[in-house]
Amino acid sequence: TMNRSRSEELYKEALQHIVGGVNSPSRSFKAVGGGAPVFMKKAHGAYFWDEDGNRYIDYLAAYGPIITGHAHPHVTAAIVEAARDGTLYGTPTEHEIAFARMIKEAIPSLDKVRFVNSGTEAVMTTIRVARAYTGRSKIIKFAGCYHGHSDLVLVAAGSGPSTLGVPDSAGVPGSIAQEVITVPFGDIAALEEAMQRWGDNVAAVMVEPIVGNFGMVMPKPGFLEALCAVTRKHGALVIYDEVITAFRFHYGAAQTYSGLPQADGAAASAGARDFAAVEPDLTALGKIIGGGLPIGAYGGRRDIMEQVAPLGPAYQAGTMAGNPASIRAGIACLEVLRQPGVYAELERLGAALADGIAAAARSRGVALTVNRIGGAFSTHFCDHPVTNYDEAQDTDGDMFARFFRLMLDQGICLAPSKYEAWFLTLAHTDEDVAYTIEAADRAFGQL
Ligand code: PMP
Repeated sequence: TMNRSRSEELYKEALQHIVGGVNSPSRSFKAVGGGAPVFMKKAHGAYFWDEDGNRYIDYLAAYGPIITGHAHPHVTAAIVEAARDGTLYGTPTEHEIAFARMIKEAIPSLDKVRFVNSGTEAVMTTIRVARAYTGRSKIIKFAGCYHGHSDLVLVAAGSGPSTLGVPDSAGVPGSIAQEVITVPFGDIAALEEAMQRWGDNVAAVMVEPIVGNFGMVMPKPGFLEALCAVTRKHGALVIYDEVITAFRFHYGAAQTYSGLPQADGAAASAGARDFAAVEPDLTALGKIIGGGLPIGAYGGRRDIMEQVAPLGPAYQAGTMAGNPASIRAGIACLEVLRQPGVYAELERLGAALADGIAAAARSRGVALTVNRIGGAFSTHFCDHPVTNYDEAQDTDGDMFARFFRLMLDQGICLAPSKYEAWFLTLAHTDEDVAYTIEAADRAFGQL
């Protein structure tokens, strides 16, 4: 196996000073058998180099934002220029207007936007705005969807589909959990039941329109349409959490998705859907739109967004919000992504890699469910489709942990989580894909 002694030393040191040695729990190797995570020193294009000098092909992509590849020259130039011009002003800048326009052009349901610093903040604020607009307090969300770490979304399902939630983290008060109902993803009957019972007090229904957090999961045809209809019948707002999905599969969001761009310019037949038949009232964004710097954004219908201070009574602020470095990196990233052929290339690479991995698993007799949308796909060690969180939970975590380590030792970096997607970037090559398929085949052979 690979020598990672420097990572091991650094991990011991980190444990003395940083809680758990990591600044986000998903980075720890707790879910894959523990031990030292790999301390990376440098990232360029599709590769990482760790503190021992080992090279890895990166499919973590920082949990999604790094879609252009690391240190993309156009994005890097924008960050360098922003640093030269001063990184933080506490005043408005023209860049913010340019970026707001770009995002609105790509996602027309956003009449007005506000930039914040993370996906967590974006989601948290959409909930406040929905509460302010409706004068109601409860929200409904779907099991297995992740919406950041604010109190209201760290709540688990109660004992039945329409029961009030229970805290999903220590420190979340039971009183807050009672404001949240969690129903199975894709289950309109459960949503209707919850609405029958609590509808008069529901401010919003929050959903990942295409799920990225328990695997890559397309909603069943008609699900989002029915979700919007039921929600609006009860006077509540629809919030799409597009922190993962926006600018992931095409130049736009899940809400403007109408099939994946193909290399030959035709829309894909498999998975081609018109999501634009319904629109959310509010949308939360993050990840890709920061080009690798911290960002979040939320936006939506004008009359709803005008609830936000300084125009309206719903307060939201931020010292770092809209900082010129994040905004200019975001603009540069979207400039790269709107070039013709970008998403067709991600689709081509994604198909080659996911199909190769699925074929290798089959030939080695390993049960593996691969869900792919464009350049992002999930791999669940189970023998049935994954369309909701219950199905995802059947994933064999021990098997994933062994696979994860076998891949790491062959120089391939995945997220240390059995649900997290693999993300292709514009920097990955056919050679990277071919090597990864061979490595996966060897790993499956050793499982
Ligand atoms: N919503 C979704 C759908 C996410 O995937 C994430 C992060 N994985 C968040 C919200 C939270 O974003 P952040 O980590 O930037 O706070």
